[in-house]
This record gives sequence, C-alpha cells and structure tokens, in this order.
Amino acid sequence: VSETTFEPVPAVEPAEPPAAAGTLVMKFGGTSVADPEKIRRVASRLVESKKAGNRVVAVVSAMGQHTDELVSLAYEVSPRPKPRELDMLISVGERISCALVAMAIADLGLDAISLTGSQAGIVTDTVHGKAKIVEVRAHRIHEALDSDRIVLVAGFQGVSTDFDITTLGRGGSDTTAVALAAALGADAWEIYTDVDGVFTADPRLVPEARKLHAVSYEEMLEMAASGAKVLALRSVEFARNHGVKLHVRSTFTGEEGTWVTEEDERMLEKAMISGVTHTLEDAVYRVSGTERADLFEALAEAAVSVDTIIQTGDDIVFSAPIEDRASTEAVLGRLDANWEERDDLGKVSVVGAGMKSHPGIAARTFQTLRDLGVEPDLVATSPIKIAFYIPQGDVERTVVALHEAFELSSVEAERAHD
Ligand code: ASP
Ligand code: MG
Repeated sequence: VSETTFEPVPAVEPAEPPAAAGTLVMKFGGTSVADPEKIRRVASRLVESKKAGNRVVAVVSAMGQHTDELVSLAYEVSPRPKPRELDMLISVGERISCALVAMAIADLGLDAISLTGSQAGIVTDTVHGKAKIVEVRAHRIHEALDSDRIVLVAGFQGVSTDFDITTLGRGGSDTTAVALAAALGADAWEIYTDVDGVFTADPRLVPEARKLHAVSYEEMLEMAASGAKVLALRSVEFARNHGVKLHVRSTFTGEEGTWVTEEDERMLEKAMISGVTHTLEDAVYRVSGTERADLFEALAEAAVSVDTIIQTGDDIVFSAPIEDRASTEAVLGRLDANWEERDDLGKVSVVGAGMKSHPGIAARTFQTLRDLGVEPDLVATSPIKIAFYIPQGDVERTVVALHEAFELSSVEAERAHD
C-alpha cells in the first residue's frame, strides 16, 4: 500500500463580491527581486501589465537569499529560536521587497500600495513556520484596485487567528499568490521566476531537458511533491481546487513558460511521461511496535509533512522532509516505537498522466534501473507516478538514464500544441 498525502485546502470563498474581469495575480520569486536593478525591472513589468488594462496584484518574495540569511541570524543568536519570534523575523524579507517595488512603481508615475500579509487579509491557523491559510479577507485589496492602484502583497505570511504573525513554510509566497488569485476570482496566476518553466528533469542534471508547454494539476502535484522546486506543493493543490490556471514563466525573457491546467488529450495521448524528478531532501523511517493510526495522527499533530507511506509486513515505512526531522524524532520517541531512520537515500520519480492508459511504463522504468545496476529500496506508486528510493550517489545517473529511456529530450516531450 502506498499513497501520497496532500494538504487540505482552506476555504477562500470571497466574502466580497467577485472581482471585475481582468484581475491578474503576478508572483515574483526571490531571484527576480534580488537587487535594485531587478526591482525596477519588476516594477516596469507591473506597470506594463496595468497599462494593458489589468487589475494587478503582485506578490513578491524576499530579495535573493534574504530569508535564509534571516534564519541563520536567528540561529546565531539562539540555538532554539521560539517559532513565534522566528516568524516575526523572517516575515520581514517580503515586506522589504514589496515596499521597494511600490517605490519604484511610483517613480514610473503610477499609484501603488504595499501591504503585509496581515493587511492584505490573509488569515491563517496558529502553526508557526508552516501556517495554513484559513481565510482571505480581501476587501482592502479590492478597495485599492478600485482606486486604480497596483497592489503589492508581502508573500509567505499572514496573521493567525490569535493575531500573531505567521509564515506559510518555505516557498510560501506561491501559496500567498494562489490564495489571492482564488479569493479575487483572478483570471490567471502568473508566476515569474529565474527558470523558463517546468522541465522534463532538472536542467542542472540533464542539460537537454525540455521545457514543458503544459502539465496537468495532478502531474504538477506529483512533480512538486517529488522534488520539482519550481512551485510549492501547497500552491499547486490550491490552484487545482479552485480551478486557477497558472503560468510559470521567466522574469527575464518574456517568453511563454509552462501552463498548469486541467488534464487534456495531449497529456494522455502518448505513452510519454511528463518528467523525471528527484529529491535528496527526504528522510526515510522504518517503524514497528505502534499502531498505524496512532503514528500518523501524532505526526499530523506535530505538523510533519509525511509523503510516501508503505506498509511492509508489520513495519510501517514512511518518508518526511529532512527539515521535519526534529519533530518526527520527537513523535517517534514519545510513542515508544522501535524505529530506524535513513538519510542516505534519494527519491527518483517518473510522472505522467499517460501512465493511466498506457501500460509498460513500469517495465521500462525497472529495466532501466536493472541495466544501471541500481537496486531500488522502496517503491511507491500512484496512478500517474512511479517513485523509488535509491542510494543518493546513484540519483544523478538514474535521472539521466530514465530521461533518455523515455525520450524526453525529443521535441514531442514538450507537448507543444496549436
Ligand atoms: N522567502 C520565502 C522563502 O525563501 C518565501 C518564498 O520565497 O516564497 O522560502
Ligand atoms: Mg522562493
């Protein structure tokens, strides 16, 4: 038995009337606002979009590596920073960048206003460090849009139901943007980043990887859950549940990127997969001597993002991000279970909607592994994914070989159409 668990999606039904047509939510990642020159470029892009007649809401990430720097700073001061204070600190990065973009827009002669997550009406639960949005009260954004302003919202943060500042987990500006897109009834959500879109594999490992023209929400969910860094998992799920079309594209080239949408024919047509993803950031736990239900309940309470779950005999095997290690170990200790942890494995996943109707994908995957002499440790599947754990040192050549085996360097792999 194996399954991939996704997070529940909050209600974002707008309390306000739905926005006028032409609302566009544009999100800019940290590399897109890394220095003053880039900030001015983002401002021009927003101005362009506003002049084209859109109601423009922009969500920005912290400049460059600023969030990492703030996190390190906290740990230089304190070995165990209190989660509430850590959120107070790291939410600052996004406030800086959105204020700067608003200033640059003013210099271009348009009216803009920057808002914190809290001012923008993003209400979350009380889990510091990975809060979930429970509600979006967008009236202030609506007002600003109605008075013809470009609205900048600090990504990655909100205010909890206890009135504390919370953050949404690393990469959380994506989640801010999609939640706003849903709450505002936006036509589309554009995410501007330093890559050109979603690729058939990580181009750093596979230089001939192709940019995908289109992927389905389900494919993107599986890819994001298995290591594709370009979109935060929770944001994709949100987009799917609210039918928000998203377009992942480069800040710097202006070219079309990847559309993430409902599944369509061209994704199902071929025995072709959408991509091979990998991650080195999972720890794998093997547990015995405890009930499955108790274990997963305790992990959920500790907000551990459990990914792959496999039941083998009496043992329960699951994976969770390395960053959740301390909480996972605490839970296992408390349950008085027998457990082992491995952090020397990497996960490789083959993902594609075409798997549902075309047999032979698993055969080709495992033949490729056999030819490489790579022995998978754990295998987990979903209707559109085959994932397995292998020694970290084998990950790179396995990704390269699978990419080749599924002919993903061919033009066809792009799923280009029209
Ligand atoms: N600045 C935050 C981070 O680095 C959020 C984001 O970039 O989306 O995780
Ligand atoms: Mg980011």
